[in-house]
Amino acid sequence: MIGIADPSQAETDLASGTLTCPSCTGPLQPWGHARARTVRDHGTTTVALRPRRARCRTCRGTHVLLPAVVAPRRADTTAVIGSALLASARGAGYRRIAAELARPLSTVRRWIRAVRDPEHVEWLRVQGVLWLARVDRDVIADLAPQPTRLGEALTALAAAAVTLRARVAPHVPPWTLIGQITRGRLVGRPVPARPG
Ligand SMILES: [Zn+2]
Repeated sequence: MIGIADPSQAETDLASGTLTCPSCTGPLQPWGHARARTVRDHGTTTVALRPRRARCRTCRGTHVLLPAVVAPRRADTTAVIGSALLASARGAGYRRIAAELARPLSTVRRWIRAVRDPEHVEWLRVQGVLWLARVDRDVIADLAPQPTRLGEALTALAAAAVTLRARVAPHVPPWTLIGQITRGRLVGRPVPARPG
């Protein structure tokens, strides 16, 4: 699985051979599509996707190019999951978040539990800082202190997304960029890369 922020750019890169294989860095070529998926966005809106599949010209491994608007194996968009985390960082409880987002309590609880793991939250913060170091190091010093570790992580990720948006990808929504920055693992353990 390869997370992509901008599907049309990925299509262009795939056609020109500039998208590289995560296993061997060989050039990827278009290789049909993966199974169509429908994910839930805010409210009752849904997003239908048919992710592109690509094959490496060198090692012949195949990879699914998953738009970062969604995360692997999640039924909700990165934006919905992110909103739940943001509400939690601001002190809202499961029930209120579930009611506000119109999602089952068990689903919201699973997301929030994932960010109770200090190691995972620190990993999220570091991803934000690493991206900021690549696009605008000065922003790191200006990050406002937050009362919680989750708040610190989300602030770093938001700053990275806003900076990336301003400099590189103005048409990509911030949560999609955060999905890309966190490689689809906003609320998940690392997903091992495997042939799609
Ligand atoms: Zn390869």
